[in-house]
Amino acid sequence: HRSVLRALLLENVHPAAVEILRDAGIEVETRSGALDEAELIETLADFQILGIRSKTQVTRHVLESVPGLLAVGTFSIGTNQIDLDAASSHGVAVFNAPFSNTRSVVELAVAEIIALTRRLAVRDKALHDGVWDKTAEGSHEVRGRTLGIIGYGNIGSQLSVLAENLGMNVVFYDTAEKLALGNARRVETLGELLEVADAVTIHVDGRAGNAGMFTSDMFARMKPGSIFLNLSRGFVVDVESLREHILSGHLSGAAVDVFPTEPKKRGDHFESPLRGLDNVILTPHVGGSTLEAQESIGHFVAKKLRDYFLTASTTLSVNLPNLQLEHTGVGRIALLHRNVPGVLAAVNQVFADHGANIEAQMLATRGDLGYVVTDISDVTQRGASKKLMAMDTTVRLRIRD
Ligand code: NAD
Repeated sequence: HRSVLRALLLENVHPAAVEILRDAGIEVETRSGALDEAELIETLADFQILGIRSKTQVTRHVLESVPGLLAVGTFSIGTNQIDLDAASSHGVAVFNAPFSNTRSVVELAVAEIIALTRRLAVRDKALHDGVWDKTAEGSHEVRGRTLGIIGYGNIGSQLSVLAENLGMNVVFYDTAEKLALGNARRVETLGELLEVADAVTIHVDGRAGNAGMFTSDMFARMKPGSIFLNLSRGFVVDVESLREHILSGHLSGAAVDVFPTEPKKRGDHFESPLRGLDNVILTPHVGGSTLEAQESIGHFVAKKLRDYFLTASTTLSVNLPNLQLEHTGVGRIALLHRNVPGVLAAVNQVFADHGANIEAQMLATRGDLGYVVTDISDVTQRGASKKLMAMDTTVRLRIRD
């Protein structure tokens, strides 16, 4: 039995997402704002899919009150606005867009490396203040200078490619084994990077161990006159010592997009030891904020939602076991279940009892959840699905014939 799926997209999710879901046969309703808890619960009763951005809070209460909800797509990078544990225990798949704004962050970093190396912020401010500060002092080309990248993941490695295209030499340090792109050179220690780089830029992830990782000692080890960028996470850097090293003149500039504590909403007051410093560019966590990134997030999350419903794929789901089973063309049964011993055997016994031949099958587990996708002919066998539904380990069962 296949009824039409309905998706509710809030907070002005990009139109590209609407189109992708509609093309997949999903009915879509859009709202421009966020909904509060009570409104969300009331509205969601008729929907199986919810699309949000950062303002809508998907609480445990929401997830408990809307049993028909199957998936939440958050058209954002972060997932803090969703109670992921509650989503998992109710078998609600959550998808986000972990790297759709990579290019935007990289372009901002490139702009800032050139701007800081050229002391643009200083010239700009002087002229706005009515002072004709015409001088080459402290201004350099970036060509031939060395960029040190800490964290060579999605962002760091793409920055490496663009920086080389500008004629920079690139060295990088990463705690994991990473393929050096172009002519970039991997260094074995952070210290080695700090000693050779004219510009140091941080692109590590937000794992707990990275809190306070960039210390006063590290600023001290940087080359005199070098510049520093942080567009990763605010808590990674000791901003007090960054301030001291700017004031002492040891560093010639810095660009910071992320802060240990950030105001909640647009228009709020901002306090930081970094305010008012010369050749320090401050931006309000907008590294990934471009219209192009919004569109690419729209594409990415909508395709994840679509594929979850069309093929049962959970690839890159934030909370469910990740798997993708190649389609064999027969019926497909996707069973989300509690991860306890014996479930797969019991499931396959049900299929065997109903004389169903398994064409393909894949199992993945994650924490308390298991997910098994099985292709069998004649999934419409009502007896089999009834038995699967009745198993006390079953969290969700979805069938496509
Ligand atoms: P990623 O996970 O692809 O890459 C992170 C890399 O850092 C990995 O290769 C990892 O091995 C490495 N790493 C982790 N800890 C390290 C350490 N202590 N020393 C050296 N290497 C270390 O992440 P990404 O997609 O490239 O994002 C990088 C950062 O940028 C993240 O913190 C992310 O939150 C942030 N970000 C910020 C914005 C913004 O608006 N400013 C937008 C997107 C992402």
